Formats: sequence, structure tokens, C-alpha cells
Amino acid sequence: MNLPGHPAEAASSAASGDLTAARAHLFHQGTVDRYRQLLAAGVDRVAGRVAEVDRPCTGIAPARLAPEIDRIDLDRPLTDPAAALDELESVYLRDAVFFHHPRYLAHLNCPVVIPALLGEAVLSAVNSSLDTWDQSAGGTLIERRLIDWTADRIGLGPDADGVFTSGGTQSNLHALLLAREETLAATALPREELLPRLRILASAAGHFSVQKSAKLLGLARDAVITVETDADRRMRPTALANEIARCRRAGQLVMAVVATAGTTDFGTIDPLPAVADLCRAAGVWLHVDAAYGCGLLVSPNRRHLLDGIEQADSVTVDYHKSFFQPVSSSAVLVRDRAVLRHATYHADYLNPARMAEQRIPNQVDKSLQTTRRFDALKLWLTLRIMGPDAVGTLFDEVVDRAADAWRLLSEDPRFEVVTRSPLSTVVFRYLPAERHLADDANLYAREALAASGAAVIAGTRVDGRHYLKFTLLNPETTVDDIAHVIELIAGHASRYVRTKTAAETTTEPQQPCPVG
Ligand SMILES: *Cc1c(COP(=O)(O)O)cnc(C)c1O
Repeated sequence: MNLPGHPAEAASSAASGDLTAARAHLFHQGTVDRYRQLLAAGVDRVAGRVAEVDRPCTGIAPARLAPEIDRIDLDRPLTDPAAALDELESVYLRDAVFFHHPRYLAHLNCPVVIPALLGEAVLSAVNSSLDTWDQSAGGTLIERRLIDWTADRIGLGPDADGVFTSGGTQSNLHALLLAREETLAATALPREELLPRLRILASAAGHFSVQKSAKLLGLARDAVITVETDADRRMRPTALANEIARCRRAGQLVMAVVATAGTTDFGTIDPLPAVADLCRAAGVWLHVDAAYGCGLLVSPNRRHLLDGIEQADSVTVDYHKSFFQPVSSSAVLVRDRAVLRHATYHADYLNPARMAEQRIPNQVDKSLQTTRRFDALKLWLTLRIMGPDAVGTLFDEVVDRAADAWRLLSEDPRFEVVTRSPLSTVVFRYLPAERHLADDANLYAREALAASGAAVIAGTRVDGRHYLKFTLLNPETTVDDIAHVIELIAGHASRYVRTKTAAETTTEPQQPCPVG
């Protein structure tokens, strides 16, 4: 297929440095038809692929896909967009992992809503950059409204503010930077003296970006202290109180407590009201990492699970996890907008101080990034077209489905289930009579499942043992899908156990069934 609007001269001389041909690729007044046609063709490819996908992935191994990509000569363009799209099928679309598929049950990647895809297309074509007003009129105000809207949903009060970020990792880093600066500002001692004494308290189920942030923030290697959890893997408030007291006695300065509202592994929510009370009493910054649990902010039935979040000093939300937004879309929110000054620098070439005096809204004054995508537009169009209740209803549906999955697994004698999540995660494992094979059987089942492409599930370790995990984020996943995947897991795991026990009773070394 030769796409209309593809200038003949572009095909013949694009590779030889012809300016006219090169210009035909720029998006401007003279090329809007080409833009329309090319994007429509791309949308058509994706729609066609999504329409025919019958499993979440093909299970392709990196070693098989790499040669396809290596063989491409990037210095010799195909020039014909249709040919490039054909090629894209084999290097990307054919083997991509599709989160819209109901048997993708692995990570915190969601299927996306169409209004947000519309936003994505609009924001990249206009290409606003949200650092300064003079690059993003309108975009800046839209982002600010969404920050205010989110802060309102959280209940952070009249002085709240925040900024969109690239993801929960950046949001956590940003929040902890502010916490560090506020802690340092509150004492008269020199920074160099205090820095090694700063501590962050988080539960073992907290996200690893807290550790990464501590390192980036120049804290001591042992700066992140693990607070004990209860049987439901929630931070134990008495343990938190003890740790705060112990740090004080040891001359350490607790710069933040990180409570998690939706742990990545277990989907559990730390007891926010009790944690907030302790933080307030101790004068410690409370950061709530709601990267996963933020979908509850719009849930018609479960908003109460986040009670206490309104007492946080800072909050991380990942719209790209539980608001069905495409990557990336995240924000960090703060109770007191004044703290954002810790990330403020003025550059004469970008955002001179006089602009702040003139109240020109330059978002770069609050952000760790400079050039920054207008990701907020996706959420804006989602709210304007669907509304928050519709998003929350979708999230409620996946939480209901996780409860179904938990019930199926806990009634099934072949499996053992860990904590019941108030969100959409189920951690479990296949438990054979031959207990010593349990770890390997579960590892094997997960790999075999992924290699077949029939379903994708996650894995984790609990108390040193290998477990399997469903993270449900797709409202299209049915109880039947889940039951089907459970049977596939049991099939792979029991086959592994049979092969192994047969091998153990013979002297011949024997391979278990190969993955693939
Ligand atoms: C996913 C996650 C993060 C990190 O967010 P990214 O958007 O992947 O950077 C942080 N905290 C929690 C609890 C998460 O689940």
C-alpha cells in the first residue's frame, strides 16, 4: 500500500539530503493531510492487531526477537510509511504484550481508556512542553486544575499543590526530596552533619523506589528502616512508634514515614489514620505512596479504604495504574504548596525570577523535570468524556474480580493463598504433596505459562518462598478467565512435579519438561 499524501520525491531522494523531501515530513500547515492519513493508517494497524489478538503475548524470547531488530539498517530508510508499518508488525506489534487481553494478570499495567488515547494523540501532535507558560498556555492551567481536583479528592486542604511526574518512582523521589529539605530546614545543625543521620521508615512491602530515592538523596546506606508488618502485611503502628522512639534515642532524625496505600506485592493498605496520628505526634513528614491505590479516590464503593490519606504531607498517585491511563501519567501532591520551593531554580534563559513576581505560572518552578509532556491532557479528556464515576466503577470491577479469584483459590485444595487484598492482587502458590518441589513447581508453572503466551501472571517471594501473583486491572477479565488460568497453572505445576518425582525414583538424570 502506498499511502496517499506521501510525496513521490520523498521516496526517491529522502536519503540523499533533499530538503524539499525532508520538509514533507514536518508537521505543519502544508502537511495536515499527510498527518491525517498517516496517523489513520497507524491507528488502523493497531486496531487490526488488537481485534485479532487471542492471547496476551506470544511468549517470544529476547534471543529470538533481537536478530529481527539487529538486522535493520537504520541508515537506510524504507521511506514508504506502509512498508515501515509492515516492518513494525514483525519488530513490535506481533510480539507485544497486550494489557487489554483478559488473561494478562501480571503487573500493574492497565488496559487504557479510549478518551486518554485521544488525549495522547492530541498532546504529542501539539507538543506542548509544560515547563513554562510560554510553551504551554492552556496546558499549564489544565494541569493545575487536575492537580487541584486530585488534591480535593484526597482532602489535602486549601494550601495543597503538586505537579505531574513521569511515574510513581519520580513522585516518591520528589516527595522525599521535599521531606529531606523540610527536615533539614527545621534544625540549625549543618547539612553535612545531619545528612548521614536521616532515616526513612517504611514497611517491608513498600516500593523499592524508596530505597533508590534514599540513595539519590545522599542518605546513609542504612537510611531506610523496615517497619514490622502484621499478618495482613500492613505496617504495625506499635512497631512504627517503637522505631520512631528508637531512632530518637540513637540520635537519628526521621525525615519521613512512607505509608503505602496499595502495596505492589500484596495490594494491602497501611493503617493510614493510626500512622498519621503517630507522625503528627512525632512531628514527622508523612508520605503516602498511593501509586496503586489511587483508583479508590474515584471509587463509588470503596473510597473509605483511603481514610486518613487526607492527613499526609505528600501523596504519590499513578493515574497510569488505576485510572486506566496510558504510561506515563502520575503526580505528586503536597499539603503545603510552600514546600515545592525546594525544587525551584531560576534560569535567565527559561524562568527568570521576575516571572514568578509577575505571577506567570511556570510549572518548571515546581518540577524535577524541565521539558515535560502534557500527560495531564489524557486525564482531562477522560474526566470530560467519561467522568470520574465511570473510572471508579471500572476499578471497583477489578477489585470485585480479585475477590472472586481469592475465593476460587482459597477453596481449591491444590493452592495456598496469602493475604486477602482490599485491592486487586492475589498472592498464592501451588502446593504439591511433595513440599520440597513447591518452589520449583511454581517457578516452572509461571515460566511455562509465559512461554505459551496463554496467560501472563507475576511472581514474588514471601518469607523466602516462591509465590505466584495475579494483579487484576482489567475489567474485561471474567471469573471464567481466572478459573481457566488457575487450571493452566495447576496443569504445568503438576506436570513438573510428576516428571521430577519420576526422575527421583530412577537413577537416570532426567530433564523436567522443557519450557516452551
Ligand atoms: C508502581 C509503584 C511505584 C512506582 O511507580 P512507577 O510509575 O512504576 O514509577 C511506586 N510505588 C508503588 C506502591 C507502586 O506500586
